[in-house]
Amino acid sequence: SFNPRAVLVTGGAGFIGSNFINYFLPANPGCRVINLDLLTYAGNLENLIGVENDPRYHFVKGDVCDARLVAQLLAEEKIEAVLHFAAESHVDRSISGPEVFVRTNVLGTQVLLEESRKHWSSESVSQFRFLQVSTDEVYGSLGSTGYFTEETPLAANSPYSASKAGADLLVRAYHETYGFPTLNTRCSNNYGPYHFPEKLIPLMIHNIIAKQPLPVYGDGLNVRDWLHVRDHSAAIETVLKEGRLGGVYNIGGNNEWKNIDIVNLVCDLLDERLGRSPGESRRLITFVKDRPGHDRRYAIDASKIKQELGWSPSYTFERGIAETIDWYLANQKWVAEVTSGAYRDYYDNQYGNR
Ligand code: NAD
Repeated sequence: SFNPRAVLVTGGAGFIGSNFINYFLPANPGCRVINLDLLTYAGNLENLIGVENDPRYHFVKGDVCDARLVAQLLAEEKIEAVLHFAAESHVDRSISGPEVFVRTNVLGTQVLLEESRKHWSSESVSQFRFLQVSTDEVYGSLGSTGYFTEETPLAANSPYSASKAGADLLVRAYHETYGFPTLNTRCSNNYGPYHFPEKLIPLMIHNIIAKQPLPVYGDGLNVRDWLHVRDHSAAIETVLKEGRLGGVYNIGGNNEWKNIDIVNLVCDLLDERLGRSPGESRRLITFVKDRPGHDRRYAIDASKIKQELGWSPSYTFERGIAETIDWYLANQKWVAEVTSGAYRDYYDNQYGNR
């Protein structure tokens, strides 16, 4: 088993990166965590108040495209693993402005790979891993049956997923070409605390509480597989420590839901908690024009990580979604902060709420 003494987490102030650090740091007392994050609209240091005073944790504000900074951090901090979460991550934003997705997701990954490869081949570290955190969206869309396996050809349909697929192929190329020790995970949709309220579940929670319209794309019948972010974090740790070098691992919850069913469920759970009459929040549902190129169904076959590495999810969806709703209700201050300022303009533009 691989047990690094110092890891560089990129994008650690975002939704999944911050949940990963909150999980990984206490679970690995022999390891330091350096968090490199540019603090774009999606990055929020409030997500990390639980670890910010830990002497094994260190935050650095910066860009993954900055080769000098990356090289300096790798050397000075004697980094033994890079866990690469940093990305532009919202499909809708990639449709209105794809350029930054190519810059951050493709170029940023190449810069990290190249500086990590130099660091690794300089033999200043005795052991090294580069773990690319990716998404099932690189596989494109499924019909009503079938599953994505690790052998499914990449067929990205949005600028977001195309940029992630480009990055994944660079990771593959660094392993094939240079023998560089890479790992690549591809996970289904995550939910849980600290999820930015532009994404489906937190957006619905936010709008239900505020009695605002609940925008649902098209007919609401698009299917996604949902996994609790803590299960994703544990899967990433498992792949880091036990994964086969050069390997790709799908991560999923075996938990398919139609968008409209998720929205109805969140409505009903919140009606209960807010003391509203049954069905009240469902009346806020508003079907809006479908997202262009909207993938119909994603479903992950996660049998490889289960059979090879023994990982499987520990949350049931019932427990995970109820806990997530309670977290949002208890953390309205966090929501208010992340929905102010620059995000507000984007949100208004997108959904016409004023
Ligand atoms: P997020 O948008 O919440 O967070 C991204 C973080 O990256 C932010 O903190 C942001 O400030 C930072 N960042 C952006 N550009 C940067 C740059 N140039 N340099 C340094 N930092 C930068 O995203 P997320 O939902 O936490 O996703 C994290 C990773 O997981 C992404 O690579 C995404 O593709 C992947 N993923 C996400 C999901 C999901 O359901 N959210 C599912 C599978 C895979």
